[in-house]
Amino acid sequence: MISNSLNISIDKIKGVGPKVNAELQKLGINSIQDALFLLPKRYENRTKITQIKDLKVGEAFQFEGEIVESKIYYPGRRSFYAKVSDGTGYLQIRLFYFSHAQASAFKKGLIVRGYGVIRSSTSIFQCFHPSYKIFESSKRPLLDNTLTPIYSLGSSQLTQYRTRSIIKECLKELDVIDLNEKAIDKLLKEKRMNSFSIKEALEKIHNPEIKDDVLKINSFKHEAQERLIIEELATNLIGVKIASKKIDKLKAKKIKNLSADLTSFLNDLPFQLTEAQQRTIREILDDISKEKPMRRLVQGDVGSGKTIVAAASMFSAAKSGYQSVLLCPTEVLAEQHYKNFLEWFKKTDIPIKLLTGKMTSSIKKNIYKDLENGRTKILIGTHAVFQEKVKIKDLSLVVVDEQQRFGVKQRYDLVQKSSIELMPHQLFMTATPIPRTLAMTLFADLNTSKIDEMPPGRKPVKTLVYKSNKKEDLVQRLEAVCKKGNQVFWLCTMIEESENLDVQAAEDAKTWIEKNTKNLNIGLVHSKLSKESRDKAIKEFRSGKTNVLVCTTVIEVGMDVPNASLMIIENAERLGLSQLHQLRGRVGRKAGQDAYCVLVYQGELGEIAKARLEAMKSTSDGFKISEIDLQLRGSGEILGTRQSGGIELKISDLSRDAHLIKKAEKLANHLQESSQNLSEILLNRWIGDKQNLIIAQ
Ligand code: ADP
Ligand code: MG
Repeated sequence: MISNSLNISIDKIKGVGPKVNAELQKLGINSIQDALFLLPKRYENRTKITQIKDLKVGEAFQFEGEIVESKIYYPGRRSFYAKVSDGTGYLQIRLFYFSHAQASAFKKGLIVRGYGVIRSSTSIFQCFHPSYKIFESSKRPLLDNTLTPIYSLGSSQLTQYRTRSIIKECLKELDVIDLNEKAIDKLLKEKRMNSFSIKEALEKIHNPEIKDDVLKINSFKHEAQERLIIEELATNLIGVKIASKKIDKLKAKKIKNLSADLTSFLNDLPFQLTEAQQRTIREILDDISKEKPMRRLVQGDVGSGKTIVAAASMFSAAKSGYQSVLLCPTEVLAEQHYKNFLEWFKKTDIPIKLLTGKMTSSIKKNIYKDLENGRTKILIGTHAVFQEKVKIKDLSLVVVDEQQRFGVKQRYDLVQKSSIELMPHQLFMTATPIPRTLAMTLFADLNTSKIDEMPPGRKPVKTLVYKSNKKEDLVQRLEAVCKKGNQVFWLCTMIEESENLDVQAAEDAKTWIEKNTKNLNIGLVHSKLSKESRDKAIKEFRSGKTNVLVCTTVIEVGMDVPNASLMIIENAERLGLSQLHQLRGRVGRKAGQDAYCVLVYQGELGEIAKARLEAMKSTSDGFKISEIDLQLRGSGEILGTRQSGGIELKISDLSRDAHLIKKAEKLANHLQESSQNLSEILLNRWIGDKQNLIIAQ
């Protein structure tokens, strides 16, 4: 704690009544300290207004202008637009979800001040769903005089405004009197690691002044931010050390290496494993034959064949009489793996079950029963596996597919499922490379296998970039592919913040394709469809009954339909580089196949979007892609997301902050030498009751 007063409950703060308190709880905020360490994920600059003529596409700005026209219109989807002018140009505000009251507030002659990312159609700047205020020209509100911090508010109902005002109140309580805090400040200063005290750093981070370098702050390179990053990384290093000691004491079931059985299982597969797959399986089998719980990360690019590696490991566990779980981030993926497993295991007598959230409770009950009595040997499932009712008698191995999609807490809950007093072996699979030094410093006892080879005969997917007004070309390409008997993914995305808009866009796209093509069957998958309709659409696409599957990013990870050879991504400029790479990996999954990915963008491209699409065109190597991704995101991209590699960090980003690791190590060493007390303060602050979780990380 910073001082005793900061440990007091958050409901003592002005403005925090029972309702707000309940919302704060959802964010894990109980005390003043917790609120102070809810750190902004990015900043907006609302201290100035940019003239419309100076706006740049792809970046966020604050703009202001008089409403000259507004209208609700219905071609395709219902939407609203308001045209504003500031004398230097015109800008169109567009809303796709709005109430009548919202629309009618845009009265001609009033002034609107908005903030949002600028897009453009051919003729005019546009801003979709900006945050905005409307007022009379005589009642112009003052501009902000600090950068505006934006917080991650998850599922809570708090507004940014309310959150900011609560944190402002908390900052008033920030009075460093604690001697231990002073000791840490002093240590950092004396060792010339950082000159900010914790108090100064927090004040700066929640309220950066405009004279502070906006770019530096937005890219988290300000010294105040570094103060906290170093502290957080150091704390994690200490946590990992403690966790490693704990893991050393835990025991796992030894899984026998029955190589004859496994060889015949692998020989029955429809393909031969690559060298890299075989090597990875050997590394896993070696680990799980020991009493020390395995913690192994399998990194392999999209399409490198990670699933069969998981299957081989789970086969071995089952043959030793134990149970294992394959955890998947989406239902689509779980169902696909289940289908593949049934095929691969059909000559064995190993009982395999699927568990997803949407199953009926009577089906689930049966599944639970056979997990608890140990009969089901292999379980493939989604988050539904975390349910408290799920008990697994002899859980010996947990495989987490697309591990970056899961939180540490979830994985920890899973390893606790076993009724035996043992720790299961853990295998994490990912296509997102985590730099080795970081993986080693931040994951306890983690070993890595690399599948650095693609199955034979794969050709790189050819990538094309189209402007959206070339849709006719697209139709030709699509028809040609279908004529050859291959299939097409048509992926829709509108605005990343809104799932609803994606859904609408997908429905519109389906109608459009139907209108503009002949004799094609078009399927549709999005998150708002019932499970039955979705299952049906996916099944029909897999079986080749439909030629085109129009979808949203629900299919992003893992989806495997080898006959699909064309991936069309609309509004590709809105997606991040690793996401684009994942999506492109849905095609080109068969030897000898000529596969294409067409990235369609709208309007003018911003600098970073342009660089991203260029990168997609120039390489298909996942490791290169993630390097470029890093450079682009490191350059202060406004919409950049924080890649955490599954680790829940409050401010640090493993990729962005690699250069601070040395300092963090130094701090960690000093803290541990100086007094146990100091480490404990930091463990409480940064990791809190999640300390146990590091062993699942
Ligand atoms: P990812 O690493 O992206 O999870 P998958 O495990 O889904 O990749 O495998 C991609 C496709 O390649 C699947 O259709 C799978 O059956 C196939 N596959 C996997 N290994 C091989 C191999 N050694 N030879 C040929 N095809 C393979
Ligand atoms: Mg996969």
